[in-house]
Amino acid sequence: MSDPFFQPVSGFELPRFAGVPTFMRLPHIALDDARLSDVDIGIIGVPWDSGTTNRPGPRHGPRQLRDASTMIRAEHPVSGIRPFEVMNIADLGDVGPNPADIIDSMDRITAFYDQVKKAGIIPMTAGGDHLTSLPVLRALAKDAPVGMVHFDSHTDLFHSYFGGTMYTHGTPFRRAVEEGLLDPKRVVQIGIRGTQYDSEDLDFAKSVGIRVIKIEEFHDRGVIDVMSEARDIVGQDPTYLSYDIDFVDPTFAPGTGTPEVGGPNSYQALHVVRELNGLNLIGADMVEVSPPFDPSGGTAFLGVSIMFEILCQLSASRARKK
Ligand code: MN
Ligand code: MN
Repeated sequence: MSDPFFQPVSGFELPRFAGVPTFMRLPHIALDDARLSDVDIGIIGVPWDSGTTNRPGPRHGPRQLRDASTMIRAEHPVSGIRPFEVMNIADLGDVGPNPADIIDSMDRITAFYDQVKKAGIIPMTAGGDHLTSLPVLRALAKDAPVGMVHFDSHTDLFHSYFGGTMYTHGTPFRRAVEEGLLDPKRVVQIGIRGTQYDSEDLDFAKSVGIRVIKIEEFHDRGVIDVMSEARDIVGQDPTYLSYDIDFVDPTFAPGTGTPEVGGPNSYQALHVVRELNGLNLIGADMVEVSPPFDPSGGTAFLGVSIMFEILCQLSASRARKK
């Protein structure tokens, strides 16, 4: 294990409302920085929402998440893990998308994550809408399909929108299965709910063996039981974690484009991540935080609180591999 030397700026040294806001107040290490080789886990902003079909705004997510993340301290309240003292974690900056061209944006995102993967860094992405996960997976799962734990109120498994548009935030995981990036038998989707156009997405899930745990089953069984099954489904092989903030009930996370009622509360939103211990995680994302619908900033604060939980799991996963 390399010596930890990237520390967040302490709130005892510089008040949390002061300074340039990076993720978790960590150093910003650009991809051409000589210190890149020291980074174990990189937090990356993808300010992009060109896949959004209804209410836009997640392109503003990374900037608001960075600001909210200045509230996050160094130690996990339950496990006592201090991730910034276990792993070198840094803010790798933003991927610059092309807001006028979806295909070009996806190529730019994949090229960025190719470099991250080549440097041996585990990426923690702050989106961006959920289409962001597809170009990220194109880099991370290039060599072999991976499993996925996916928290969302939607499957994002639809074939197409508007009569044949293949790339929207409702289609990323359909494409990822088609492109051989995801092993559908090692994919579990948790929290699915809301009114539907039709059940085409669920029919596809069934046909390829994706396990869909709808919100009714989630509430009936509880977090611990559901997450035990989720761990069994993905097993010990490489696994991606994708977290759409609309998994959480809109009472707690109104700042998102496609809210659905009847969801988990903010405690359950953290608890599901705490139950992911022991997995072989190769990357994670937090997507669909939409600042224009989040005037209180509470959704962004929940988003970065979940990101801290995920960082603790990524740190533990990376430590096991070293
Ligand atoms: Mn989604
Ligand atoms: Mn969703």
